[in-house]
Amino acid sequence: MSDIIQLLPDHLANQIAAGEVIQRPASAVKELLENAVDAGATSVQLIIEDAGKALVQVIDNGKGMSATDARMAFERHATSKIKSIEDLFNIRTMGFRGEALASIAAVAQVELKTRRAEDELGTRIFIENSKVTDQEPVNHPVGTSIAMKNVFFNVPARRNFLKSNSTELRNIIDEFTRVAMAFPNVQFTMHSNGQQVFFLEKGSAKQRIVQLLGNQYNAKLVAINDDTDYMVIRGFIGKPDTARKTRGDQYFFVNNRFIKSAYLNHAVTNAYDNLIAKDSYPSYVLYIDLDPTEVDINVHPTKQEIKFTDEKIAYAFVQAAIKHGLAQFSLSPSLDFSL
Ligand code: ADP
Ligand code: MG
Repeated sequence: MSDIIQLLPDHLANQIAAGEVIQRPASAVKELLENAVDAGATSVQLIIEDAGKALVQVIDNGKGMSATDARMAFERHATSKIKSIEDLFNIRTMGFRGEALASIAAVAQVELKTRRAEDELGTRIFIENSKVTDQEPVNHPVGTSIAMKNVFFNVPARRNFLKSNSTELRNIIDEFTRVAMAFPNVQFTMHSNGQQVFFLEKGSAKQRIVQLLGNQYNAKLVAINDDTDYMVIRGFIGKPDTARKTRGDQYFFVNNRFIKSAYLNHAVTNAYDNLIAKDSYPSYVLYIDLDPTEVDINVHPTKQEIKFTDEKIAYAFVQAAIKHGLAQFSLSPSLDFSL
């Protein structure tokens, strides 16, 4: 019998790997918005057609790419963000795995336009099935535009698996909300089928939160502001009377990254103690910053799960910060600090 093991062709390997990173149009929204922020953009536009099934486009005014980097960016494990294992444990950017653009290029048609300040002409590239089909110099403002078209056009099983437009659009708005909430100092806009959905000027965290979650929060937030050597915790929690029977608006950002943590959620809920009914959920938007070496974000490809080096300490700090905020609130309920 002859040997039977073969290496997968690159394109097939990319398509398989893409499944972890790009599950639906909203996954591309997250990755492209994060790339824009990593590129130092102060203004980011998201354009959606047909709930992202036809088009997800992100236009930024960040630092742009050279013609060579524009090609390189679509290779697997190609990144400008880390060089060594030490960097991995000291990460300050949203990205670092070098997988997003390669994954998108494996499952969609992509048009990239980009220019750096030092280049007179920019670059336009078309990619399909992970291959550059066309590349030419173009006039373009400084920054980058990436358009992902007809996602899963070449993976019918995945295309069929996509949900209704209203569900896919909801997922997109959720991802947009998370990134926009993490970076209130960046202007974000979103259009869907030619209609403006969001226009978010740069501003304070409180302004951004109220713009995204609704005016009902305007006079209903308690400021959290705890500074220690280990951790800085800022943000807002809902006044006790905003707690609801259904899981409401709950956001944790650790070093600007939206994360899900049942553990930290427990710390917050616990801190409300008898101020809210046992079976109700508080609302919160908390920005937690700490030394990147104290957290491992490389637990999952979407980076929504993280591990604190010391979970117990993290729990205790979060709980204390919330208790502190609530105590100040009960002393003088009208007190309000903005970020
Ligand atoms: P990662 O973000 O993990 O590095 P990506 O596949 O998302 O991987 O992007 C690959 C590389 O392409 C990035 O490291 C960056 O150098 C470049 N890049 C991607 N998007 C942009 C952008 N909007 N502006 C400038 N450079 C970008
Ligand atoms: Mg990225």
